Amino acid sequence: MEQPTPTAQPAPPVMAQVADDHDTAPAVLRTHGLRKQYGRVTAVQDVSIMVRPGDVFGFLGPNGSGKTTTVAMILSLIEPTAGTVELFGQTTREGRYRALNRVGSIIESPAFYPFLSGRDNLGVVARLRGVPEARVGEVLDQIFLSDRADRKYSAYSLGMKQRLAIGAALLNDPELLMLDEPTNGLDPEGMVEVRNLILHLASQAKTIFLCSHLLAEVQQVCTRVAFINRGVIVKQGTTEDLLRTDNTHYLEVDDIPRAIEVLRQTAYITEVRPEGRGVQITCTGECAADVATTLIGAGLRLNRLQPIETSLESIYLELVGADTTQQGIPAGRS
Ligand code: ATP
Repeated sequence: MEQPTPTAQPAPPVMAQVADDHDTAPAVLRTHGLRKQYGRVTAVQDVSIMVRPGDVFGFLGPNGSGKTTTVAMILSLIEPTAGTVELFGQTTREGRYRALNRVGSIIESPAFYPFLSGRDNLGVVARLRGVPEARVGEVLDQIFLSDRADRKYSAYSLGMKQRLAIGAALLNDPELLMLDEPTNGLDPEGMVEVRNLILHLASQAKTIFLCSHLLAEVQQVCTRVAFINRGVIVKQGTTEDLLRTDNTHYLEVDDIPRAIEVLRQTAYITEVRPEGRGVQITCTGECAADVATTLIGAGLRLNRLQPIETSLESIYLELVGADTTQQGIPAGRS
């Protein structure tokens, strides 16, 4: 009987603590002031990020923003012009090379033999890397491919191919998994499979570092994110904090000019502006109940009051707005 593909939603990973103690908290990965200069081109500038155990960390930015260059420096594939990388507490070059045994990565899609099965392809990679062949069966289970492991790679769906690629990165049983655009070029079904596999791996205590420009995808799996634009980190934090919308609301009333006048005189409301057929307000904290009381107390009829939902995509566009037109819109690119 065929094993189910990972379409059922596993529990989301546990949220890591908010990080404002960059230098002291235990970290799987920490970079400090990382910079890479190619002649006159500054590919990456002053990148300081921290990934804690159990994080699903989204490293987000459009084409050419410096994601791959940063990852290549983290993996010691290229030397930084300035700054430091710390992996599992190791900062020296030798220490970081040793620490790389605890990291699995897909930076570019690995080449698999189309005429071999998924199992045999993983076997080839295992032999090349000196990993015991017994790991192949375990990894096939981990990526939900055991039941189709003996089919030819060429017959695999896009999602299965990508799961096999993630499987290759899991052969050495890494604690940190680094994935560069893991859902890029996948069909919607493949995206769901890979997204659920990431959630499944996170629930197995893997720490995951994910580069992506697909912000709606990332929003569903990442516990923490950093936005990079033109080589510079423009914002980072927990996904939960970034998406918190308790204090922005949209409302509709019978007399909008009067409502705006009343709301502008209310101390805890920091911004009031007409929006469509209503008004958008931003408060200093959770304010829905107080706003309703204030408007009704002023004799207005309140027809609608709802929190504004935000998204990583809208936050990113607000942060770098005009810049994205020069580099391609970050989301929606295939
Ligand atoms: P993509 O998603 O398209 O790979 P990215 O965010 O990974 O983009 P990088 O590949 O890190 O971005 O590139 C960042 C900047 O550095 C770009 O302007 C790129 O042209 C430049 N760059 C990268 N590698 C080199 C190199 N070897 N020589 C010169 N410039 C480079």
